[in-house]
Amino acid sequence: MQPAAMIPDPSSPGFWLTGTLDSVEPTLRGAARCDVAVIGGGFTGLWTAIQLLDADPGLRVRVLEMERVGFGASGRNGGFCDASLTHGLANGIAHFPHEIRQLEAEGRRNLGELVAFVEAEGIDCCLEKTGAMSVADHPHQVDGLREFADVAADYGVSLTFFDRKALAAEIRSPVFEAGLLAGPEQTVMLDPAKLARGLKHASLGRGVTIHEQTRAVGVERRAGAVRIRTSTGATLLAQHVVVATSAYSGWLGRLQRLFVPVYDYVLVSDPLTPDQLASVGWQRRMGISDAGNQFHYFRLTADDRILWGGYDAVYHPGNRVGPDLDQRPETFKRLERQFFRAFPQLIGLRFPWRWGGAIDTTSRFMATFGQSLGGRLTYALGYTGLGVGAARWAGGVVRDLILDPDADRLQLEMVRSVPFPFPPEPARSLTVAAVQHELARADERGGRRGLLLRTLDAIGVGFDS
Ligand SMILES: Cc1cc2nc3c(=O)[nH]c(=O)nc-3n(C[C@H](O)[C@H](O)[C@H](O)COP(=O)(O)OP(=O)(O)OC[C@H]3O[C@@H](n4cnc5c(N)ncnc54)[C@H](O)[C@@H]3O)c2cc1C
Repeated sequence: MQPAAMIPDPSSPGFWLTGTLDSVEPTLRGAARCDVAVIGGGFTGLWTAIQLLDADPGLRVRVLEMERVGFGASGRNGGFCDASLTHGLANGIAHFPHEIRQLEAEGRRNLGELVAFVEAEGIDCCLEKTGAMSVADHPHQVDGLREFADVAADYGVSLTFFDRKALAAEIRSPVFEAGLLAGPEQTVMLDPAKLARGLKHASLGRGVTIHEQTRAVGVERRAGAVRIRTSTGATLLAQHVVVATSAYSGWLGRLQRLFVPVYDYVLVSDPLTPDQLASVGWQRRMGISDAGNQFHYFRLTADDRILWGGYDAVYHPGNRVGPDLDQRPETFKRLERQFFRAFPQLIGLRFPWRWGGAIDTTSRFMATFGQSLGGRLTYALGYTGLGVGAARWAGGVVRDLILDPDADRLQLEMVRSVPFPFPPEPARSLTVAAVQHELARADERGGRRGLLLRTLDAIGVGFDS
């Protein structure tokens, strides 16, 4: 539980990370060697390191993290840990209709294993097996939710529809018209920074060497190996390199066409008083998101604050990322206004915590994998805002690419195929702006998608957070 008296620190990247990270692992200095070097200490990098060691305990694995473990999206997100590997079932059906049943089964197995790992390792990350609810906050969304429950059932996903009255018994808002609840086999809620901290210790306990405050600036092929250079002039020679730098992957030129970094913003309130909590209900404590193209996600923290995030998805031209983009007052104001529209009974509630983080968006909204440098460099990125659970599965794919190239799951089309690339600037900024404009218009027009979106849907290309 976070201490209630914790003071918001404007220089910190958020509520979860403040006070959570413990000892700093030493920066890489001089020249070192290892079998596998993992660049990026988020969920992808840490799960990869853990699964490599679990498969081969003799491997020498080092993780290089430019800031602190969990500094990126992994320590800043909403903490919805979902079984989907495809940014939701609907997106999975759209892209991989012949494979989606297998992907759904893989995703549920992955979530079950993730929860079992957290329990077996004793990781305190406030994991709550609550499930998650999608709510309609406009009448036109109600039929869509009801119909989707039937579609999901065909794919083995059990969702429960709540009409307005039934929903009001779960969560009280004048604007929620209906809801669709997924159970804990589909979504669990957790404190992401505490999970990152737990994975850091699970890695260290297996013999992984972690170097924090160590930024990789280049990789080059050497005879039978890859040499990584860091910003301080240290080098690491590895048989194999894993790039797990997510929305920050612009440092590696060959990944730039695959993704756009999109900033997503979050507010966290003061703890609710018992009366305030009673006024919203929310006894099952499930995570909730609303059903528009521009959507909010919201949840209770372990100490009964409300986290409320989403809606704006901000692209900064040139794939720009950096701490100067973590604060966006106009988005925070909009989020507050929208929160009190949903929960007018909480007017007066303060949101002292506010931050943003970069999401690695691909044109098909799910992870993509690949190798280069003669198969000695492997990358995984692109979860597009739904990577808390999927990053563990991706770490398993990366492990298989390195240690077990005949593994069945490497035959999946989702693993083998590549998303449609984003164009270079200035066309990239123009494309993103046009799609965002159309998504907002579709929400205003009762969900009807215009020509641009329908064309992109038809060729399997899109933009999301
Ligand atoms: C605000 C927000 C809310 C979100 N909400 C949810 C949610 O509720 N549920 C969900 O499933 N997903 C959510 N996501 C997405 C989810 O957090 C990510 O998909 C997931 O954390 C990605 O993990 P990762 O390890 O690939 O990336 P990251 O966690 O970003 O890790 C990449 C790491 O690489 C490091 N790095 C970068 N460049 C270098 C370099 N050159 N050298 C060394 N290190 C480097 C970074 O410092 C960073 O720590 C959200 C994301 C954001 C930003």
